[in-house]
Amino acid sequence: MKILVRNPLIVTMNENNDVIEKGAIAIDGNRINYVGPMEWTPAGPFDRTIEADRTIAMPGMINGHCHSPANLVRGMMPSKPLEIWRAYYRASLRDMREGDFYASALLGGMEMLKNGATTVLDHFFGNQACRFMGAGAAIQAMRDLGLRHIVALTLSDKNYEETMPLGDSAKQFSDEIRRMSASEAKPTQAWLEDCEAFIDTLHAPEKLTTACPGPSAVQRCTDELLRKSAEMARRRNLPMHIHLAETKTQAVMGREIYGTSLLKHLDAVGVLDSNLSLAHSIWIDDDDVELFARRDATAVHNPASNLRIGSGLAKVKEFLAAGINVGLGTDGSASNDGQNMFDAVRLAALIHNQAGTDFNQ
Ligand SMILES: [Zn+2]
Repeated sequence: MKILVRNPLIVTMNENNDVIEKGAIAIDGNRINYVGPMEWTPAGPFDRTIEADRTIAMPGMINGHCHSPANLVRGMMPSKPLEIWRAYYRASLRDMREGDFYASALLGGMEMLKNGATTVLDHFFGNQACRFMGAGAAIQAMRDLGLRHIVALTLSDKNYEETMPLGDSAKQFSDEIRRMSASEAKPTQAWLEDCEAFIDTLHAPEKLTTACPGPSAVQRCTDELLRKSAEMARRRNLPMHIHLAETKTQAVMGREIYGTSLLKHLDAVGVLDSNLSLAHSIWIDDDDVELFARRDATAVHNPASNLRIGSGLAKVKEFLAAGINVGLGTDGSASNDGQNMFDAVRLAALIHNQAGTDFNQ
């Protein structure tokens, strides 16, 4: 089917950031074969013409970090620090099964498509009662929507209480946290075998699916799990995704555990590489910025989630000045209350103005 889109304002996002005021887009089957000024539109005939004046056409956005199971609890989680917020969110996953993961991914995916995102990275953690924690159902939902997806299966072989200072104020939670950890515990090798099987079963770029490892966070994984996950991704030519230094507590605990920053530890175990994207990357040292840039890794900034649960503000201006690749994400709907990438764009464009008054930046 040949389609002509007439007269949209086209935001090309090309190297010169050209904007075409009266543009045209010609589509033949599943290929876009012309984007440019209206007057150079290739000759028809077209099966369908869409009059698109007073609309904007632009490349689809990429949501670089979210958790699809969170869409069913949108608006229900408290704005508490991540370490406490997490207990509420994880409890909500306990009763979810494949049908719920399908519905949750479908809801979030629809919202993304409606708001201009055509690709998403889903850092998936579901319920261990399901095969691959239910990730297959989320993948099916995104295939059904025609939403391109990278699903990074969350891996974590350390108990949560080993990574968190559970002081007196958390005593009332500590039994519950230990109980949750015990119910999720699995040996390192079992996590790795699961992830290999997940990729063997579900990785299918022709069906819009990239399946890859997604270690939860540096401090939530043994060095062996981090190293072997990275080896798996490299061997299969896949990306890898991880959370990095989302809260100050994590950064302080990381230094206590490793004697250095979380990023430097990741580098020391040979994981920091150009195929790795790191969600948040907020609480990092000044000399970490240079290391981050040198390894050509990607930081994924999630401004709405960071504000919603008060995690902090990534040094995005410094990242960009250092040449670090910076992506944007919504994070899950449990810490954002939506999956709208225009929100992420708007917040990212606004909140960093408060860090200085250099308007050339
Ligand atoms: Zn996250």
